[in-house]
Amino acid sequence: MLERTLSIIKPDAVSKGHIGDILARFEKEGLQIVALRMLHLSKSEAEGFYTVHRERPFFNDLVEFMTSGRVVVLALEGQDAISRYRSIMGATDPAKADQGTLRKLYAANVQNNAVHGSDAPETAKTEIAYFFSELDITG
Ligand code: GDP
Repeated sequence: MLERTLSIIKPDAVSKGHIGDILARFEKEGLQIVALRMLHLSKSEAEGFYTVHRERPFFNDLVEFMTSGRVVVLALEGQDAISRYRSIMGATDPAKADQGTLRKLYAANVQNNAVHGSDAPETAKTEIAYFFSELDITG
């Protein structure tokens, strides 16, 4: 199924200079970049994005990390883009991620884990709409 998913290149990967590596991987894997922007999330923007995790013990640390520097936010499109990107990204904890995944290659630990990817069609829709209007997404 042709799907769209939301990707975030997180502050750790941006500050280490991995934007180009990660974008090149998307292109190589046939995940088409249909929208892209760079931003520095405010506290309330990061809290809003991760609101499903607000009761988790790591929530404040996660928000602090996500606001610590610039991020790149993208909408990706392709056949089965949501699950395909999740497998390219790898497990949340890089120690458990498969070889060659973005998190194995670029992440330091379970929090500073280089990239975000939507986990299901409904979340993808909400997350893309959190950052992009329909007009920002190229046809
Ligand atoms: P994801 O879908 O693989 O990104 O994982 P989750 O939705 O479970 O968690 C969202 C984000 O919270 C992760 O990508 C991490 O940045 C962070 N996170 C998850 N688990 C932990 C944890 O145990 N400790 C800390 N500090 N951060 C975590």
